[in-house]
Amino acid sequence: MQLQAHPFTIPFLAAAAISIRFATLIWPRRKAPGALPLFIHVIGLGIWSGSTAAMWVSTSLNAQLFWLEFSSLGVILTPLTFLLFSLQASHHEQLLKRRWLFLLAIEPAVSLILLWTNDYHHLVYSPAELWLWKGFREIHWVPGLWYAVDTVYMYVIILIGVGFLANSMRHNGELHRHQIKFILAGACLPLFADLVYLSPLSGCLRNLDLAPLVFTISSGFYLLAIERRRFLDLVPVAHTTLINSMTDGVVVLDDHDRILEMNSAAGEFLGVVPGQVAGHRAKEILYAWRETTQPLWGKSDLRTEITVTGDNPRILDLKVTSLVDRKKRTRGRMMVFRDITLRKEHEARLQTQNKQLQTQLEEIRLLRDQLREQATRDPLTNLYNRRYLEEMLQQELARASREHYPVCVIMIDIDRFKLVNDTCGHKIGDEVLQSLATLIVLHVRRFDAACRFGGEEFVIVMPMLSIETARERAEFLRREFAAMPLPCNTMEKSPTLSIGLAAYPTDGVTGEQLLDAADQALYAAKGSGRNRTVLYSDLAGKKETSGEKMPKQQSAAHRSA
Ligand code: GH3
Ligand code: MG
Ligand code: MG
Repeated sequence: MQLQAHPFTIPFLAAAAISIRFATLIWPRRKAPGALPLFIHVIGLGIWSGSTAAMWVSTSLNAQLFWLEFSSLGVILTPLTFLLFSLQASHHEQLLKRRWLFLLAIEPAVSLILLWTNDYHHLVYSPAELWLWKGFREIHWVPGLWYAVDTVYMYVIILIGVGFLANSMRHNGELHRHQIKFILAGACLPLFADLVYLSPLSGCLRNLDLAPLVFTISSGFYLLAIERRRFLDLVPVAHTTLINSMTDGVVVLDDHDRILEMNSAAGEFLGVVPGQVAGHRAKEILYAWRETTQPLWGKSDLRTEITVTGDNPRILDLKVTSLVDRKKRTRGRMMVFRDITLRKEHEARLQTQNKQLQTQLEEIRLLRDQLREQATRDPLTNLYNRRYLEEMLQQELARASREHYPVCVIMIDIDRFKLVNDTCGHKIGDEVLQSLATLIVLHVRRFDAACRFGGEEFVIVMPMLSIETARERAEFLRREFAAMPLPCNTMEKSPTLSIGLAAYPTDGVTGEQLLDAADQALYAAKGSGRNRTVLYSDLAGKKETSGEKMPKQQSAAHRSA
């Protein structure tokens, strides 16, 4: 078989090689939308360019005719695969119905049949002949009627694909727009090439079909989209898919508050079919929202909670955002809402539980305070108890030491109290103890501490008071107590008080020393006839340190003697 080195072979061979290379780049990404039709598209281009190259290299008419017809396999794949690619890449897969595919396949099938039977009708091309050009054998034929039909079909199909891609740019995100720009540039190339083919320029092209070359360049643009914009790697999600997959309700209104778009979640919530309410006034569809949203109509950019009335009242978290075009004109509003009824119910329940818990906590706090109070108080007189006094005295003396002030300790004992019990009874004895407690409370200062030290013994701690003033207070109490009415008729004489007084820091520096000193003074008061007040500092036989003082046990024993 003879071959010729026709110069036209080179571009077609190159185009075929490039197409195959493109196919190898697309194959790994075949799962992306549009990738598989694009793969078949470039394979078709490879066949088209490759068989055209083979045609130019062949010398016999038969061989050239064979390759010409063989190239038509690639030709019929090109427009259809481009359309499939554009439908998938623009997320219009739903249009790829079998019926449509069947209809679209009719023309290519007819083309193939007519091509194979061309010798009988010459509808595709006129009888071919070999022409000589600078020693090269070139096939020459005149396009027939069906050739024109085929060309028109091809460009219409490509135009439709371009239309889908261009339209998808309007609806999708920035990434998709950049990707589609390259694809569109590629897709438009063959259309321009066709203009050239129809122009007078075509005269010098001598039956040269540039289409496979141009389509190959187009695939170069698709490859740019793949490489530079990661076209088949980063697949943008169509916005309808996006809003329909949202669990929040989305309603888009135009500037006259008519419904433009509504997602499935909103449709389900409102009990309407989103496609059927497009164009309706929002107020008609959202009638249950009317009462609570009255002040919202006409407003934009707000976030609020609304209650939807009706059989099944719901609480919604509603966000309204105005939709602004590039010229900053408001074109409509978008309402995004979420049913927060359950959350609100939970919150309300939690709030009630919280309140109950607060009340319980308050009760516990009160009880604890009461308990603490009870632990520090004597139940009969409600004065502080001895344990509290000892703690308090220690703290008071520490502060007195820091701030250098005196503290007086007054120890009181009811004289012959046993007699009161014996004469008037224990109950009256209790009342006498309570009366003395009341008398003390009424006549001490707010920051003095009065306590029941033992059976009928009381101690008052008086900070920041001189011993002389303390003695006056003690004397006052003694006189007042003696002047009280008789506890009972059978008692001849009112009970009296014996009082011992000691002062910090002169008579002792610890609580124990001071109580001991006051006790010694009290013992002296008892010893010298009762119903009197004695200062520890006045005692003749007192010792300087507590270790030398009379032991408390002993003094108490002496007192009761
Ligand atoms: P003295 O003048 O020496 O202090 O004589 P006294 O009788 O007061 O002292 P004594 O220690 O002998 O008796 C104290 C009495 O106080 C004995 C006890 O029955 C009585 N007493 C102690 N606590 C209470 C009380 O809570 N209620 C009553 N009614 N009596 C009490
Ligand atoms: Mg007594
Ligand atoms: Mg006593």
